[in-house]
Amino acid sequence: MTSRTTDDYREMRRSGIECVVEPSFWSGSDKLYPESFFDYFEHIHDFETERADRIAGMDHYITVSINPKEAVDREMSEAVIDRLPEYLDRDRVVGVGEIGFNLQTDEEEWAFREQLRVAEEHEAPVIIHLPHEEKPKGAVRTVDIIEEMGVTQERIIIDHNEPATMETTAATDCWLGFTLYPGKISIEEVMPLLEEYGTDRRIINSSADWDDSDPLAVPKARDAMIDAGWDRSEVRKLLFENPLEFFAQSDSFDYAREIAAESSTTESAAGAAETEPGTEAE
Ligand SMILES: [Zn+2]
Repeated sequence: MTSRTTDDYREMRRSGIECVVEPSFWSGSDKLYPESFFDYFEHIHDFETERADRIAGMDHYITVSINPKEAVDREMSEAVIDRLPEYLDRDRVVGVGEIGFNLQTDEEEWAFREQLRVAEEHEAPVIIHLPHEEKPKGAVRTVDIIEEMGVTQERIIIDHNEPATMETTAATDCWLGFTLYPGKISIEEVMPLLEEYGTDRRIINSSADWDDSDPLAVPKARDAMIDAGWDRSEVRKLLFENPLEFFAQSDSFDYAREIAAESSTTESAAGAAETEPGTEAE
């Protein structure tokens, strides 16, 4: 998204969220020039990071990409991807994403492959968006490309999983994301999938979409899982430790190093933060 309201940031902080990772998304109208992407990256990198800190004392990191929804024009994609490497060296950039398929066109595939290649060269974490239309087919095509390119699966999240994608995506070494938002998947639908496919390399996140989405979906999921009888340590692993471990693969993710330093000085995990979601856009 382009930005969050001040109320969103405050309510997230009040609910125990002290760090967010925001992936690049579509700005609500199509960008007409490659340069518009760079203005957008600057905005979320500097302005939103400063706002999240000033308004709510929250750490804010981003991932950069040409989103699948925007990868419609080869020339534009090329111009944006050419300059991605310089953003991957910036302070708050912890990866490449979202990338992947929207309508599953050849142009989208080209941008997806190019950005996977750039991420692999820079050893950067990757967030992959599964398409909302023809999702099972899109999941197969996504996994085929990852395997064919031989990129490091441990540095990839395949996001927006649903029951129909699990068999395909769980067969990889990638991390699997579940984006909680109205009209897509709920925590009640995710819990049985976690029971069946396990909690290792699984991440639960929320959405910051232009339509209905809930920035408190992750803390609400924490409450729902505890109410449903899940072990606290298992909930903590899913909602806090897993995303921490995944993004710690980026040298820019100072939050993980601060948490590690805190727990080594206090020798106590009990007082640390409750949640650390990747706030996700459609
Ligand atoms: Zn997405």
